[in-house]
Amino acid sequence: MISFDVITLFPNLFNEHLVNLPFKKAVELGLISVNLHNLRDFTEDKHKTVDDKPFGGGVGMVLKPEPIFKAVSSIGKKKSARVITLSPRGIKYTQKKAKEYSNLSQIILICGRYEGIDERVLTNLSDEVISIGDFVLSGGELPALIIMESVVRLLPGVLEKEEASLNESFSKETLNGSPFKIEYPQYTRPQNFNGLKVPDVLTSGNHKAIEEWKKANSKPLI
Ligand code: SAM
Repeated sequence: MISFDVITLFPNLFNEHLVNLPFKKAVELGLISVNLHNLRDFTEDKHKTVDDKPFGGGVGMVLKPEPIFKAVSSIGKKKSARVITLSPRGIKYTQKKAKEYSNLSQIILICGRYEGIDERVLTNLSDEVISIGDFVLSGGELPALIIMESVVRLLPGVLEKEEASLNESFSKETLNGSPFKIEYPQYTRPQNFNGLKVPDVLTSGNHKAIEEWKKANSKPLI
């Protein structure tokens, strides 16, 4: 069972996602629990202040350390817990990380907003700082959902067909140069769509030739 504890200023952003697949199935199977923690609940002033101006000047506001430290301490860390802060400056997230996280008992995700988070949260509270790519979003909520969803898909019984997650892109390390397996192109009916035809081999019934075609075409598009 993995407990996801998400610290965010916008818990409502998660709701629609969490009641749908794959989260719905994982909750039904008792494989995960998701707890959303509103950062404002860990403030101590009457205005529920979570941010302040950056020292040294600069635009925008920075999330203060106190409410975030207080949130993590009040959530409490289980034995194999990981505290992960989302930041474009972090280590790049990969399927390999998703696999690693799928073995944890608790994942605490800290979502930033505005100009970011006081650096002491990254250096003194977080076990890891993770980026989901070289671009900047307005908050850590989508990155948190991306991490959660990629982890949940790997839990046994969540996908209709277990082998689906075993054969997907990035699921295996290969020995042939490319660091990860990439899935081959997929086609469905109709066989001829406005003159765009499915490769003949896939409808040939020749399983050996189909396997060879899949292997040869398991490569990135660029
Ligand atoms: N000023 C920061 C910078 O230039 O690195 C960007 C802050 S961003 C507008 C606000 C928050 O969104 C971040 O604190 C982080 O939690 C989240 N965020 C934005 N892009 C992200 C990414 N690529 N990966 C992970 N988190 C991201």
